Amino acid sequence: MTTQTQAPHGFDEDHESFRNELASVHTDGRRKWVYARQPSGRFYSARTLVSYVLLALLFFGPFVKLNGQPILLLNILERKFIIFGIVFWPQDFYLLVLCVLTGFVSIALVTSAVGRIWCGWLCPQTIFLEMLFRKIEWLIDGSAQQQVRRDKAPLTFDTLWRKILKHAIFFTLSFLIANVFLAYIISADTLWTIITDPPREHVAGLFAITVFSLVFYAVFARFREQACTLACPYGRVMGALVDQNTITITYDRTRGEPRGKIVRGAPQSSRGDCIDCGQCVTVCPTGIDIRNGIQLECVACTACADACDDVMTRVSRPTGLIRYTSEEAVRTGQPNTLSWRVKAYAVVWLVLFSTAVTLIARRPDMDVLILRQPGTLQTTLDDGTVSNFYNVQVINRTNTPFTLVYRVLEPAGGSITPLGPIGDVAPYGIVQSRFLLRLPASTLAGTSTPVRIEVTQGGTLVEIVETSFLGIRNQEEREHHGDGDERKRDEPRRDRQDE
Ligand code: SF4
Ligand code: SF4
Repeated sequence: MTTQTQAPHGFDEDHESFRNELASVHTDGRRKWVYARQPSGRFYSARTLVSYVLLALLFFGPFVKLNGQPILLLNILERKFIIFGIVFWPQDFYLLVLCVLTGFVSIALVTSAVGRIWCGWLCPQTIFLEMLFRKIEWLIDGSAQQQVRRDKAPLTFDTLWRKILKHAIFFTLSFLIANVFLAYIISADTLWTIITDPPREHVAGLFAITVFSLVFYAVFARFREQACTLACPYGRVMGALVDQNTITITYDRTRGEPRGKIVRGAPQSSRGDCIDCGQCVTVCPTGIDIRNGIQLECVACTACADACDDVMTRVSRPTGLIRYTSEEAVRTGQPNTLSWRVKAYAVVWLVLFSTAVTLIARRPDMDVLILRQPGTLQTTLDDGTVSNFYNVQVINRTNTPFTLVYRVLEPAGGSITPLGPIGDVAPYGIVQSRFLLRLPASTLAGTSTPVRIEVTQGGTLVEIVETSFLGIRNQEEREHHGDGDERKRDEPRRDRQDE
């Protein structure tokens, strides 16, 4: 280190230059490839364990079923969502919105309290990149230093076979991830059909698998940390959620500065604990220096904390120079506290979460929706009855099949003629069909007659649906409603009902 005007807490102002440039981009705009050293230590071991559990859940998730349904399904095409076995249809959209809102507030709450813990420990991008792709790279291409040497050296047979093998494995993994990703959208059963049927029957599905595979390959083989730094919207909002009290991976500058290399015989008392070895930088997958403070690129992966703990142990100094703490705790030397912002988010989250849970728990097992079909005419049948067409939609939210029976309670003498399967509803199924409702003309009251239909299942009442029948009883009423004079010259319109 040269120059050095001292800023508060012994922090060098020269280090402020990091604010003007991205660690993974040269000043002329070219990509600066990050050759991250493989970390080791207690955090990395814990993250490895968590990652393998999550990878197992992620890969097997679409194939594990709860009550015959996948645990997680995000079928945007059919607008059917299953979250931990709970099925959401388009009719439950308000619940889905509430759940998404609760999710957003959860992110705000967690980020304000403990920073980007999601990114470092749970995000699929970090897990795939750090725990799969980068480990394969270290295995085939060697350590970070060996990778640098190989990339700078002329192409030889040794580097060529390593590149081919590495990228072949990368693409195979990307293909697998693409299939799993698709299984979460269209379900594992549909995916299996696409894979096993003749290709010409599922051109769109196979095209989607190919596109997803190429995108994942590009992200994990080339784009890498740029996805977190440049593309991820969560990283963009981090600046608005993190503050001085956020507990995240932080360099203890009061203890570390002024940094300086160990010089034999020189007194230690004038320097901080940071020996400026740079190990925390060499392990960083985004190429930044945590000693510059909280930065946009930091995904809180803990690699620098492990590296520094290892260095501190070797130089017989206390570990934790880089640790989970807040800027405020470092500055004041006091324990971490919860800020008012975290407490406010917690209250909002609690309200949203309890509302969502209550609404989901109180959802009826079945929804029956009966609506008169718009744009249809009243029909007078041969037996003197009049009829209207109705659309019926039934949603079964249980894992048992239902056989529904419909009975017209009011007006008396009404009957239902199904025009499709309106009775049998599969587990977690949805039925959309039509029926014809006949009423004796004598029961019509004015132009709109209230109708009550009882829906039962196995003798148990499911719902009484109220709707209306549009129709006019006889010629006198038509004349009363101003239609009679036109009847002879406009015969086809005689039974038209305004919507
Ligand atoms: S690893 Fe620790 S001692 Fe080495 S430069 Fe980083 S903070 Fe300083
Ligand atoms: S600064 Fe540390 S915690 Fe942040 S991304 Fe780099 S290694 Fe991970």
